[in-house]
Amino acid sequence: MTKYHAPKGVQDIYPPDIYLWQNVENVAKEVFSAYGFQELRAPIFEMTDVFTRSIGEDTDIVEKEMYTFTDKARRSITLRPEGTAPVVRCYVENRLYNLPSPQKFYYSGPMFRYERPQKGRFRQFYQIGVEALGTSDPKLDAEILIMLRVFFERLGLKELSYEVNSIGCEKCRPDYKKVLLNFFSGRIEGFCPDCKRRYEHNPLRILDCKVEACIKLRAGSPKMMDFICSDCRAHFESFLELLRLADFQYVINPSMVRGLDYYTRTAFEVTSKRLGAQNAVAAGGRYDRLVEEFGGPPTPAIGFAIGMERIVELLKTGNPQIPAPEIFIATIGAPAEKEGLVIASKLREKGMWVELGYAGQSLKSQMRRADRLSAKYALIIGDDEIRSGKLNWKRLSDGTQGEIPINEVLNFFKASS
Ligand SMILES: [Zn+2]
Ligand SMILES: [Zn+2]
Repeated sequence: MTKYHAPKGVQDIYPPDIYLWQNVENVAKEVFSAYGFQELRAPIFEMTDVFTRSIGEDTDIVEKEMYTFTDKARRSITLRPEGTAPVVRCYVENRLYNLPSPQKFYYSGPMFRYERPQKGRFRQFYQIGVEALGTSDPKLDAEILIMLRVFFERLGLKELSYEVNSIGCEKCRPDYKKVLLNFFSGRIEGFCPDCKRRYEHNPLRILDCKVEACIKLRAGSPKMMDFICSDCRAHFESFLELLRLADFQYVINPSMVRGLDYYTRTAFEVTSKRLGAQNAVAAGGRYDRLVEEFGGPPTPAIGFAIGMERIVELLKTGNPQIPAPEIFIATIGAPAEKEGLVIASKLREKGMWVELGYAGQSLKSQMRRADRLSAKYALIIGDDEIRSGKLNWKRLSDGTQGEIPINEVLNFFKASS
């Protein structure tokens, strides 16, 4: 038993896996930048009401999953459970709406939810997301989905399913709610306690419940798609038309509702068959009313978030590119150690990754470390080499060896790398 251990539901990420993570982050930055998204870094904790009001009081997140605590000045603080509310809070607080629209941002970092740990689910999990604020043009909806596909394809993830839906707006959703209440009214008794409460406050949420009994009871329930207003329908139709124009394969999923209160109109989810029940790798949609709820001017907006853990899970089956040192300098004896450090400094100045042996390590253990790091070359320096002014080099991939004068080391590796 070790004395210290990480809290339940979190994971450490270190080499070699970290290179998968960095690759995903680099590709995201590259792709999103090409579409004009700029990075926004919001704090990882916010005043609690930033989340309770935007996400909705009746959601699982707010009811059960937030890491909320009182700070030393008795303020209620919450570790962010998602990335959209902080971006919108920042957008409104800093009056970014005064700049030309739309404003396009991406973010990445840890989110926190107190969930029951299970495969692929963590209490600290990572998301990369984008938010575009300031236009309701369906072209933006299409662009964002196309960008997401480019991102996944560049990572080599091609067998994904892109599901889309429209969940209406504040004009048409009340009618749908009435129809839904009507449908559910005779079945309330069978619902779980959460859904009984949802029936009173937000019946749409029942469509999202994961309890088996509730899933059965809602079978055959009316679909939002059949009740959306003509504006929402026109918006959805032109969104789909633009996708078709881009040869984009989508699937309409009329029973997809997004879990959070603030979503309107376009909703989408990207799923992989290779992941079990938790198969969504990205999800997003419009939230045309959220900026106003934060006290800003009417500002239609759209965004998505990508689940890093699940993407890394999918990428683990491939062969990750793991960086390796160019040169490992193994030394025997004190004069050689000094010479090794001088040579290493010169090579490192040129940007090469150079590793050194350290005091007390035998040549054998130094070479074992060079192998372990997959160094391309080893340079071996001992008293004889210092006397003769010539070093032995060895290419570790095939065992090729040779000799070079000390003063030509720099040129030799510039030419060979
Ligand atoms: Zn509508
Ligand atoms: Zn339920």
